[in-house]
Amino acid sequence: MALTGIEIFKKLPRTNCKECGFPTCLAFAMSLAQGKTELAKCPHVSAEGKAALSAAAEPPIRTVSIGGGALKAGGETVMFRHEKTFVNPPPLALLITDAMDEAQVAARLRKMEELRYDRVGLTLGPELVAVQETGGDAGRFASLVGKVAVSGHGMMLMSSRPEVLAAGLKASAGQRPLLYAADKNNAEQLGALAKEHGCPVGVRGNGIEELIGVVEKLTGMGLKDLVLDAGARKLGAALREQIAIRRAALSGKFKALGFPTIAFPGEMADDPLQQVVVAAALIAKYAGIVVLPDFDGAMLFPLLLERMNIFTDPQRPMATAEGIYEIGGPGESAPVLITSNFSLSYFIVSGEIETSRMPAYLLVKDTEGLSVLTAWAAGKFVADEIGPFVQKCGIADKVKHRKLIIPGYAAQISGELEDELPGWEIVIGPREAAYIPAFLKAWKG
Ligand code: SF4
Repeated sequence: MALTGIEIFKKLPRTNCKECGFPTCLAFAMSLAQGKTELAKCPHVSAEGKAALSAAAEPPIRTVSIGGGALKAGGETVMFRHEKTFVNPPPLALLITDAMDEAQVAARLRKMEELRYDRVGLTLGPELVAVQETGGDAGRFASLVGKVAVSGHGMMLMSSRPEVLAAGLKASAGQRPLLYAADKNNAEQLGALAKEHGCPVGVRGNGIEELIGVVEKLTGMGLKDLVLDAGARKLGAALREQIAIRRAALSGKFKALGFPTIAFPGEMADDPLQQVVVAAALIAKYAGIVVLPDFDGAMLFPLLLERMNIFTDPQRPMATAEGIYEIGGPGESAPVLITSNFSLSYFIVSGEIETSRMPAYLLVKDTEGLSVLTAWAAGKFVADEIGPFVQKCGIADKVKHRKLIIPGYAAQISGELEDELPGWEIVIGPREAAYIPAFLKAWKG
């Protein structure tokens, strides 16, 4: 369980030597408690203190890595996002079964490649392929696993037969797939297989009580990376289980439930759109992995956006990278606009420029994610910040004119900005982004 800053402080050397980059041990402890720095930055903490603090730094819900390690589930520390932040967005998995023919498998793997979306400087998409055995044919299953392994996506192997999973593991090209599922009947064999290959294991119980029994059997075998499925296949019951598991792990400090969970919306609804609604509810509370039976872009995209929004840190504004954004293939006479790097500002302004159908350059100034007016008030969207950025960003090499359109709300900086940018004319643009298309259509250059 996480320690408070004062509890951490008591385990530090308290010499205030500043080698960690903080002025005092207390400042370091407070920052460590908030997860903003690492214990390794203090070179003087004793072995005993290190052991105590490292154990305390472990989240109450274990972080479980799948595949090469980049894909993570769990690691959560709070019930509600506003308390701190949610940590690991639940990987979304697409189901592929060994009952599918080659064309169906190829089409699904293509979806994994093609359904990718750029948003706020991130590429969003599904991360996992859930390979399911349906007929008990180990050879057929292994052949499918081999095909999926070549695609390089994270994998989850689904079968209750240890011998089938063993065949799949052989074909998985050394990946570390999630094995699903160990239950009260096969826990020992499946646990041994997972231990031999260092794989995480999905654990299924018919209710939380049975689940705990299987978890304790597996942890008793030395397995640490587990993913929980308490078995409910109706949305209401599944939500109650998810909440109960999260609460038991966080508030009750109950170790047997301190693992991420897995959800199967396809087993809770037949209609694809209902499956999306179920998935959306379970992403919000508190699925660690969501396996979807199928999806198209219209079903996947809202889930990706929901997930992104829930798993962004509410203490940090979403920001776009600073730089020059070319919209519509601008030439050397194209207008040049500037805005802050608050993501919403960027999306609205770039969207309105696209709507105008006037090719343009949009300069995005790093304001630490603040909107134009807030950034101006904070001294981050002011003349002596914008001037050096415009000079260094390279826009002068791309256009032959020297006109910069600033947001109407920042009109007060125009005079100072002209002083900072000799040779440039500062043009005051509209106050509201909605008027950008009309403004650009009237632009004479
Ligand atoms: S390096 Fe360690 S001992 Fe020195 S100030 Fe930082 S926390 Fe304190």
